[in-house]
Amino acid sequence: MASSRDTNNFIEEIIERDNESGKYAGAVVTRFPPEPNGYLHIGHAKSIALNFGLARKYDGTCHLRFDDTNPETEDPEFVEAIKRDVHWLGYEWGDNLFFASDYFEQLYDYAVKLIGQGLAYVDSSSMEEIRKNRGTVTEPGTDSPYRDRTIEENLKLFGEMRDGVHGDGTHVLRAKMDMGSPNMKLRDPLLYRIKHASHYRTGDEWCIYPMYDFAHPLSDAIENITHSLCTLEFENNRPIYDWLVDAVCESPRPYQYEFARLNLNYTVMSKRKLLRLVEEKFVDGWDDPRMYTIAGLRRRGYTPSSIRSFAERVGVARANSRSDVGLLEYSIRDDLNAIAPRVMAVLRPLRIELTNYDEGKVEWLEAPYFPHDVPKEGSRKVPFSRNILIDRSDFKENPGKKFYRLSPGNEVRLRYGYVIRCTDVIKNDEGDVVELKGTCDLDTRGGDTPDGRRVRGTIQWVSAEHAIPIETRLYDRLFSVENPEEGVEDFTVNLNPDSIEILSGSVAEPSIANDDPGTRYQFEREGYFWQDPEDSSPDKLVFNRIVMLKDSWEKTVKAKPATIKPRAKETVPKEVRTIVDSPATLKMAEDFGLSVELARQLSKDEAKKAIFDAIAEQAGELSAAVANWIVNELPGDVQGIDNPGPFLKMVAMFDSGDISQRIARQIQVEVIESGTDPETVVDREGLAQISDPSTLEAMADDIIARNTEKAELYRSGKKGLIGFFMGQLMQASGGKANPEVARGIIEKKLG
Ligand code: ATP
Ligand code: MG
Repeated sequence: MASSRDTNNFIEEIIERDNESGKYAGAVVTRFPPEPNGYLHIGHAKSIALNFGLARKYDGTCHLRFDDTNPETEDPEFVEAIKRDVHWLGYEWGDNLFFASDYFEQLYDYAVKLIGQGLAYVDSSSMEEIRKNRGTVTEPGTDSPYRDRTIEENLKLFGEMRDGVHGDGTHVLRAKMDMGSPNMKLRDPLLYRIKHASHYRTGDEWCIYPMYDFAHPLSDAIENITHSLCTLEFENNRPIYDWLVDAVCESPRPYQYEFARLNLNYTVMSKRKLLRLVEEKFVDGWDDPRMYTIAGLRRRGYTPSSIRSFAERVGVARANSRSDVGLLEYSIRDDLNAIAPRVMAVLRPLRIELTNYDEGKVEWLEAPYFPHDVPKEGSRKVPFSRNILIDRSDFKENPGKKFYRLSPGNEVRLRYGYVIRCTDVIKNDEGDVVELKGTCDLDTRGGDTPDGRRVRGTIQWVSAEHAIPIETRLYDRLFSVENPEEGVEDFTVNLNPDSIEILSGSVAEPSIANDDPGTRYQFEREGYFWQDPEDSSPDKLVFNRIVMLKDSWEKTVKAKPATIKPRAKETVPKEVRTIVDSPATLKMAEDFGLSVELARQLSKDEAKKAIFDAIAEQAGELSAAVANWIVNELPGDVQGIDNPGPFLKMVAMFDSGDISQRIARQIQVEVIESGTDPETVVDREGLAQISDPSTLEAMADDIIARNTEKAELYRSGKKGLIGFFMGQLMQASGGKANPEVARGIIEKKLG
């Protein structure tokens, strides 16, 4: 038996173990089972990469199965979009394209078989009664009065349900499992409901439709799936899965394994929420480049390989966490850095006339495409002439000490060109700078100064008469806070009002006219760009900024250490585990005053449970806050906490609001690893949270005074701007403002 397996995650461990035991005779059959009720998002990409990746690695097959059992929300448009996206990501399903709706007849037969075995019954209770009789987390459910119907009666009624004799909601088919089960999912789950609705593929052929819990496992069984992978929310559904598959299926049968879904900060993930953004026109369609849909990322300019490598970097584990969108941005930057030619574009042009450069003269200067990677071949010529466009931000009339670009009397180097000096500033009646005049040191062609004098700044530029006009679209994060759903009723209030900026007067160097319109460039010093595939045309070139060169958010929202690190390995979960809450879990919940859900999560994660237990033993008692932190915030690679005192103090500081969650996250590794007093770290780094209302009020006043236009807009109803003001305040406070207090103050002040 192999002792050191070359596996990347716990699922590969399971597959290798199954291969070693011959469970499926070496076959690996996975599936990606989207419901066609929206476009795929980056979370789906993780599942796609996992399922298709496993099939590739183990020489198996991966099915694309549309889980289309809900007539009301599904649409062929979504089927096509999903196929396109999976394909684009680089995966092939070959002949293995399936639809759960193709199994309706077979699923119906399975249901009849279950009824015949006395394992399912028709319940004629109302939905409300069913809900009421289900009990609660602490109380068992009660049997339906219809639970003991005879098999004959059940078969007759179920047949009538299919034949359309009964109206919506009058009857359902339920599995006869256990109304007293501590796992509420097992309290006689619904298998079929009546829905007189047209299905996009089966039309009006059916008026009963199978529920997810029924259709999903049995579709897997029909397709001979071996490893059925889904996200953690379905862990409690697994006993239903096993029960059904065992009841109707021969071995070898599929088994379900759960992994943590991808959550990304600064966005929402579920299709339903993305649909809202589309329908309520917060964005410009599913493929709006700000959306974290596959279609949006594609249009923005992401490459398939960058998304695949992102999925790989995120890894597959069983602990829920949020990934930093910075990691996605890192992945595309990493990809483009190697392949994108560097060219020059000026986003906000300002003209400078070089008065000592002959009118009408043009020099074509050699400029490499890959100056950072010298052995890489390729260059073009860029024209230099008397009138040059530079970026407005590269000129300052009154430069500070650290400003090394152009200012009156000072020099700057034009990339691949000459060193120039600004001699005059021309303004309009309003006092705005409209043009510059300057001179060009003709001895500096190529950028070197023969006398060795130092010119610190180098900027990009475009010759005015050769410039190609372009529109540039600069995208920023769609939401202005890390977790848009936290603490608000409606996540749309956290939309970033500045998530897109359109600059219609940008220019680019003329060489781009000769390139393939699909070229991804680095516009030097500005970021990676490509032509918007929808809106760009030869008459009007429109460029999307794919990603900035550096993460400008990193300064304010310091990247968590969790970002680019090796994938965490997970232990193999035992194949047969009880999902019902064990007495130990319930006791833990009681002993420590935890919610059952929290205790459940904790007991699911062996490593974290061990850490919790060890600390509890030393400390005697622990707060729910500590358990919560361990479950949700503690990095997965922390093996143990030798000296829990400082860690507990840190959680207490967070719990009492002395430090924010972000800051606690930021310092936790140091606190845990070195046992340093968190107060010391906080003092040393100047990280204490600012909760004092008068300090925050002063900051808020200042921000509102500097943004009167936005304040007016807010008052006239554009409430989404709260995110802007919060962002400003967080920035002004170096991320230290207590968000709750700050938000209250801003809301009051904007009234
Ligand atoms: P949504 O809530 O966004 O609609 P879903 O799970 O309902 O997601 P499906 O179309 O049913 O969407 O998902 C297809 C597959 O993608 C499922 O196997 C699901 O587990 C997986 N998946 C969905 N969201 C994520 C995510 N955020 N991370 C990883 N896998 C995901
Ligand atoms: Mg869904």
